[in-house]
Amino acid sequence: MSAVDPPGMRALVTGCAGFIGSHLVEALLEDGVEVAGVDCFNDNYGRRQKLSNLDRAHQSALFDFVPVDLARGNLDDLVDEADVVYHLAAEPGVRASWGERFDSYLRNNVSATQRLLESMRRHPGKRFVYASSSSIYGEAEALPTPETATPRPVSPYGVTKLTAEQLCYAYHANLGIDSVSLRYFSVFGPRQRPDMAFTIFCRAALADEPLTVFGDGRQTRDFTFVGDIVSATRAAAAAPGVGGEAFNIGGGSQVSVDEAIELIEGFAGKPLEVRRQGRAVGDVRHTGADTSRARERLGFEARAEFPAALEEQFEWAVESFAARPAPS
Ligand code: NAD
Repeated sequence: MSAVDPPGMRALVTGCAGFIGSHLVEALLEDGVEVAGVDCFNDNYGRRQKLSNLDRAHQSALFDFVPVDLARGNLDDLVDEADVVYHLAAEPGVRASWGERFDSYLRNNVSATQRLLESMRRHPGKRFVYASSSSIYGEAEALPTPETATPRPVSPYGVTKLTAEQLCYAYHANLGIDSVSLRYFSVFGPRQRPDMAFTIFCRAALADEPLTVFGDGRQTRDFTFVGDIVSATRAAAAAPGVGGEAFNIGGGSQVSVDEAIELIEGFAGKPLEVRRQGRAVGDVRHTGADTSRARERLGFEARAEFPAALEEQFEWAVESFAARPAPS
């Protein structure tokens, strides 16, 4: 993979208390990068989990936590002081994006990104890495899906992620902002959000509770381990000549929901009681990333092996759910 941020650099990481953001922050700190981490503890899930995601970062003298809401606060100083900006803050999740919560998607995905890009205007040439999503493709016209496929999101979440990606492009094309968009495919690993499938499956296995699966269970995802996402994100910050581009970041494991459940049953050493419901609105049937562009231009190679990486998440769940009660 391309060289990553050298020590002595200062990075701004938005969404630093989230699942992926907290892993990125730790990796940067370990390599001696100074990090200003921004988060507003959005209420998509519990503040307690987000606070504990930052426990390790707070042990480093190189970490500065800045509690700012990107949709409201003054962002100029934060951007001025950073050598590179990693924009991961967002309102994530497909299912919650229908109905009343859509306002939060507009605010935290579209307005927050636009405000950050406005602060970048004084810094053409400064790298801005935006966390986009495979959900911009909708029911992809080809599998594996190349970046040239027509984006046609089928959820309000996907629409807002695509809108923000297009804003990054517009600020690049007109104002020289050195933005790069990474289309992450279903990320998993320790600290995965409580609304995401593997966390729900692990929790059900550990609590001996029934589990609801939407759809027939044969839908597949290209699951990507969070460590590989962090490596790709850092490579995108350092790669020369990729401003204005978008890259798929996928782990290469095509796994169905039922296969994942079987694996978790194996880790837990007991069967799960699975209740089936109709397909969730906005869920696509399959996702699969063609990562050849990321391999060529960013040197990206997914390294995690699927069952072992899922077991790492299961072990994290064993530890963390014992310490923390189920969300209400
Ligand atoms: P997360 O909810 O755990 O983290 C996002 C963080 O952003 C949260 O801590 C939240 O409090 C913060 N935030 C939201 N709005 C903010 C605002 N206005 N100001 C400041 N902070 C704000 O989500 P995640 O799963 O870690 O996702 C991180 C990024 O990756 C998001 O942009 C998401 O769309 C993208 N992504 C995630 C996945 C996945 O599988 N998890 C897949 C594709 C893309």
